[in-house]
Amino acid sequence: MIPPQIPPLIRPQRKNPILRTRQPLLPPWARSRAALGLTAAAALGRFELQSCGDCGAVQYPPREACHRCLSDQLRWREQSGLGDLISTTAVHHSHDLFFRERVPWRLGLVRLDAGPTVVAHLHGGCAPAPSRVRIGARLDKSGQGVLLAFPIDEVPNMADDRQLREMTCDPKFRKVLVTDGKTAVGQSVVRALIAAGADLVWVGYAEPWKKPPHFAELEALPQVTLLPLDLTDSRSVKQLGGEIGGKVDILINTAEVHRTYGIAARSGVEAARAEMDVNYFGLLRLAQEFGPAMRARGADGESSATAWVNLLSIYALSNYPAHGTYSASKAAALSLSQCLRAEMRPGGVRVINVFPGPIDDEWNQLLPPPKLTPAALAKAVVNALKDGVEDVYPGDVAQEWLARWEESPKTLERELSL
Ligand SMILES: [Zn+2]
Repeated sequence: MIPPQIPPLIRPQRKNPILRTRQPLLPPWARSRAALGLTAAAALGRFELQSCGDCGAVQYPPREACHRCLSDQLRWREQSGLGDLISTTAVHHSHDLFFRERVPWRLGLVRLDAGPTVVAHLHGGCAPAPSRVRIGARLDKSGQGVLLAFPIDEVPNMADDRQLREMTCDPKFRKVLVTDGKTAVGQSVVRALIAAGADLVWVGYAEPWKKPPHFAELEALPQVTLLPLDLTDSRSVKQLGGEIGGKVDILINTAEVHRTYGIAARSGVEAARAEMDVNYFGLLRLAQEFGPAMRARGADGESSATAWVNLLSIYALSNYPAHGTYSASKAAALSLSQCLRAEMRPGGVRVINVFPGPIDDEWNQLLPPPKLTPAALAKAVVNALKDGVEDVYPGDVAQEWLARWEESPKTLERELSL
């Protein structure tokens, strides 16, 4: 059977500046504490359901006790999501204001191979029922986990599906600010965004008298506009916020200062202060100048503000004493980003935190491999936007540290301090 065709996304029209900005509307966001487990997994890009530790039954919707044996031993487990699409429908009228502006909206009833039957949002590429589909969990505009049925195989214009795009932050046709284009990571991120179809990339650079290698090539790209931006200077951030704050759809904060050593190997606080000034206060300055304008544009039709990405570090989870003060500045930034996330959520703007392991740059020269290349990190950032996840841990080292941290933060602390 031929699946329905997904029309390719068309570049959004320029907005009439006289039209008022739409009020940010969110889909229903109330969840029980048990149901937040689905959201927590979706934030990492996983589809998990509770599975009974006593009888093995898979549960849906999330609950406190097993629907079959009433055991309270329910554990979240990753699911394949494979199942049969039994029936489909399209909603043409809704009392919910969010969906009323977005009808028609497709839904499907899916019987999972794992047992439960679920009602899910339906990707336009799914063949008519009965057919095989794969359920994935995504965060919706309110930041809560929801289920979306995908076709088993890739279809043309897969990412252009209107309903999927409501739940992700795909950079295609969007305007992006990358706060520091002078680093290898910043330049890789700019290139990856252009490859993913970004319309325009504003690239910030501090200290314009120091031009790094390959900067001229970046400048020559037609999508790129270079702009002076110094995150240690409140006036510089304010000025740029005034110029482009109301136009940025995606902000990617790649600016960071990274010095080696912990406490005893250095005297004074200058290096630590420089790290905090960019890694923590720089984020705070950006959030104050760009946050309100982006939050107000989170519902602004097809060309709405959609995501804020922070380049953190796996060292934010647990201090790595060889890079001790850097770790501390990233931990501070992580905490602030959680505040930012809570404040941006009512506007439907997603805050994405990226926790790479050691990056293959000059500050990690003394560390043995494996190290993450700037290109691999940039790819992870773009994929996080396309999938709309909240937290991403790119590379083997970050994945391993995350697993150890989830198992026991104390054990990881001891292992890192050897
Ligand atoms: Zn049970």
